[in-house]
Amino acid sequence: MKFQPRASHFIDGEYVEDTNGAAIEVIYPATGEVIARLHSATPAIVEQALNSAKNAQAAWAALSGTERGRILRRASDIMRERNYDLSVLETHDTGKPIQETTVADATSGADALEYFGGLAASLTGEHIPLGGGDFVYTIREALGVCVGIGAWNYPTQIACWKGAPALACGNTMVFKPSETTPLSALKVAEILVEAGAPKGVYNVIQGYGDVGASLVSDPRVAKVSLTGSVPTGRKVYAAAADGMKHVTMELGGKSPMIVFDDADIENAVSGAILGNFYSSGQVCSNGTRVFVQKGIKEAFLKRLSERLAHAKIGDPMDEDVSFGPMVSENQMNIALGYIEKGKAEGARLVYGGERIERDGYFVQPTVFADVTDNMTIAREEIFGPVMSVLDFETEEEVMARANDTEFGLAAGVFTNDLTRAHRIVAGFEAGTCYINTYNLAPVEAPFGGSKMSGVGRENSKLAINHFSEMKTVYVSMNDVEAPY
Ligand code: NAD
Repeated sequence: MKFQPRASHFIDGEYVEDTNGAAIEVIYPATGEVIARLHSATPAIVEQALNSAKNAQAAWAALSGTERGRILRRASDIMRERNYDLSVLETHDTGKPIQETTVADATSGADALEYFGGLAASLTGEHIPLGGGDFVYTIREALGVCVGIGAWNYPTQIACWKGAPALACGNTMVFKPSETTPLSALKVAEILVEAGAPKGVYNVIQGYGDVGASLVSDPRVAKVSLTGSVPTGRKVYAAAADGMKHVTMELGGKSPMIVFDDADIENAVSGAILGNFYSSGQVCSNGTRVFVQKGIKEAFLKRLSERLAHAKIGDPMDEDVSFGPMVSENQMNIALGYIEKGKAEGARLVYGGERIERDGYFVQPTVFADVTDNMTIAREEIFGPVMSVLDFETEEEVMARANDTEFGLAAGVFTNDLTRAHRIVAGFEAGTCYINTYNLAPVEAPFGGSKMSGVGRENSKLAINHFSEMKTVYVSMNDVEAPY
């Protein structure tokens, strides 16, 4: 098998296998063909990975930030040099078109390694004068062993978004990719070692939820960063709380995108396409509730349908293809189930709505109009190519409806009225907002959600605070005064 890795896990700088672990079959979503067979981590593998990360941590933290950063930046360079091969692997792991993976996966992973590699040397504490010569200084310290747990939609990116800031701060990591897309994280581990990371600094073990759970509850672990669904987030957060561990939670969403009458219609349609159909709709921050003001509703739907007809659906390895399969049969069935619910609850199907008759797990880009707030497709995260278009009349009304969700990951507005745009964004209950654009996530900017969509932020300088803590040191230059 062309994509079969040397072994399932990467621990202490080497590939490691334990065939006693439950089988994991890696399936190419475009054909349904098995492209690799792996094993879930046994307790012995979990033990080996945590020991390796624990043993490596002190020496890694003792390097200067410059030295750690150099290794991360070297890894970033290697990732960019191998972008095409890594993209081919990512396309086979996820089904995403090569047109996407060559620009959004290894490249965004490399961005994270480069950015946090660059920051590593400047991570410091501060000096706080107390008067009379006394002072405090703070030391920014690593947390220790961090666990990263990934979702299946951006496997390389998630492995790097968690690994890069963790390592920059002097932590070590055990990363567990999603069982659906286990291949690319192994490459990240290999590349880090090639770039000079000492063994044990970044380990990858495979497994289902039970392996993730055993990592989260282990007392050697200081922090858990999860990308996944809200139900998993609840469990992981609770287990982490039991051990008083730090957490970052990047969870699901049902984000609103508001299009006012005065918006540039082509840009609004582009935003809606990016925010609903990129990666076949399998993006957490997608703006799947598209509120369109009544005046431009029909024009918006017409342009949207015209533009969707240009989506090139097919073999994701074909560079002209812009819309690929869903990640798995299971995820396809979930999306098809929601499409049926949309039809049954009375939404008007204006585009798509069917499985595509070919091998693999293809679902048409699907648009429902006349969706109302209480329909299932407007309330639950679908994580597939299904857009709901809802009508609105006034700004006040749409603001309240946009926020009427338990989620708070992202939100967007398209309008040419500058003051309204900022007013709307100020009112959004969401961590990541967009004005006249949608779904950007550059490493320089904080990314994350409010409400049920998450805790903490990834990327940007803020991520450093989620992977380090301050030690406060009081220094007296005077005699100690005691009452007796
Ligand atoms: P999921 O919640 O099913 O699984 C996520 C990961 O958690 C997997 O690796 C899984 O094995 C692991 N896991 C499951 N149960 C666990 C447990 N009890 N303890 C520890 N680990 C456990 O999510 P998914 O289906 O892989 O991904 C889709 C979800 O991820 C969607 O809800 C999507 O919105 C979300 N997502 C969020 C972001 C973000 O940055 N906010 C990005 C991508 C995906």
